[in-house]
Amino acid sequence: MGDDVIRIFDTTLRDGEQSPGCSMTKSEKLEVAGALVDLGVDIIEAGFPIASPGDFESVRAIAEKYGDQTVICGLARCIEADIDRAWEALKEAEKSRIHVFLATSAIHMQYKLKMAEEEILRRTSEMVSRARNYCDDVEFSPEDASRTDLDFLCQVVETAITAGATTVNIPDTVGYATPNHYYNMIRTLKEQVPNIGQAIISTHCHNDLGLAVANSLSAVEAGARQVECTINGLGERAGNASLEEIVMAIRTRADFYRVRTNINTTKLVPISRLVSNVTGMRVQRNKAIVGQNAFAHEAGIHQHGMMQESSTYEIMKPQDVGFVGTNLVLGKHSGRHAFRERVQSLGYSLDDETFQKVFDDFIALADKKKEIYDADIVAILDQRSHHVPETWTLLRLHTSAGTGTIPTATPELKNEETGEIRRDAATGDGPIDAVFVALERIIGFPVKLQEFDVSSVSSGKDALGEVVVTIADGSRIHHGKGVSTDIIEAAARAYLQALNKAIAARKNEGE
Ligand SMILES: [Zn+2]
Repeated sequence: MGDDVIRIFDTTLRDGEQSPGCSMTKSEKLEVAGALVDLGVDIIEAGFPIASPGDFESVRAIAEKYGDQTVICGLARCIEADIDRAWEALKEAEKSRIHVFLATSAIHMQYKLKMAEEEILRRTSEMVSRARNYCDDVEFSPEDASRTDLDFLCQVVETAITAGATTVNIPDTVGYATPNHYYNMIRTLKEQVPNIGQAIISTHCHNDLGLAVANSLSAVEAGARQVECTINGLGERAGNASLEEIVMAIRTRADFYRVRTNINTTKLVPISRLVSNVTGMRVQRNKAIVGQNAFAHEAGIHQHGMMQESSTYEIMKPQDVGFVGTNLVLGKHSGRHAFRERVQSLGYSLDDETFQKVFDDFIALADKKKEIYDADIVAILDQRSHHVPETWTLLRLHTSAGTGTIPTATPELKNEETGEIRRDAATGDGPIDAVFVALERIIGFPVKLQEFDVSSVSSGKDALGEVVVTIADGSRIHHGKGVSTDIIEAAARAYLQALNKAIAARKNEGE
């Protein structure tokens, strides 16, 4: 890779997954990893193998499946057992990287590690060497670098490179840096660390002050050639630098940065939706690049300018990022063939069985809603195309509610494994509550509803409603999503999807 390439190091599956409520199962992580490979990221940080058996198994499976296509990275503290465990998870991959980290700021050294400077340097050297004995590609991170004494930071970085680190990552762990401050740090490292030319400088910025992307771009200007980031800016607390924003800033302002990435930008919106579906973390409407409003020009004066020449107000084209607009595409009389073509142009390839289910959903929707938009089709596709376990499916649902009556719900479910059909009725505070109580009773174990969120997929009175629920089954968190023109049905489907995930997780405990 030339020096004009910025390596994109995605840590959605490690840093992103660490954020509260965003945990993913092994099969979800594998699906996201596959999408990251398609997106063209250079390195996937797949997890922290020593953290738990589940983490280990996910990293191992991703390394085995995708390690010949993209570098797969595992995180380790500067501890022998961590590094050994990381290698154990990564060793099947053709391309692998061990990422070791050790805190270097005075506050962390004193209160967390209780180590002196000489000890930090010694440990850095020993542990980077240990990792290098396993793997040619080793990344070292001095944790809390932005609050580390700059002279000491230079010494640590030099020591890590001497011991064999091929990438040195400079994390703004607590989101404390500002663009100029961070630029100067990277510049200083470039100028004062004698062996800096033997390693790639990397950034890892948190968004506590809303500056993660700005700081990362400053580092690129100063000479960093790897950026660590996550899809949708997922990550601990206020999150990490958002991959889509970094990539599109570099691309849109290539005139200024004079660098490029290997990312296929037309996959940005699809992967953003996938990660949002899997984690249950919604993307805010006005989020740059991938938010629903990112390309909506509503103001009349803009619209007029746009009609004359789109570049008057548009610095990027929606299709460049794979954006699916609200184009009117299909109606009740569109045939199977037209529908299949539309599905393909939206970037989905489905097997015949899944296609048939999606087509049936489309016909059912067309009966209720006269105009069907791309966004509606994507909502249907998202329901069917991800590997969501379906132990129970909804056959029928009857609810009644109204002023002066007791809300009741009677769902009927089919067990797809045994063919058994079960029905139950329940009352609740409202019809949705009644549905949830009845579903729980049929499935046979209680869960706790943590979050419930409703929004519309497109516009109009007959718009599809989308419900996202988060449930807790003991310490496990599951998300479910349902879409329908009937909000109660959407809620039932969302809840059932989350319950099906809980059943699957119970079945393969340890996943
Ligand atoms: Zn982080």
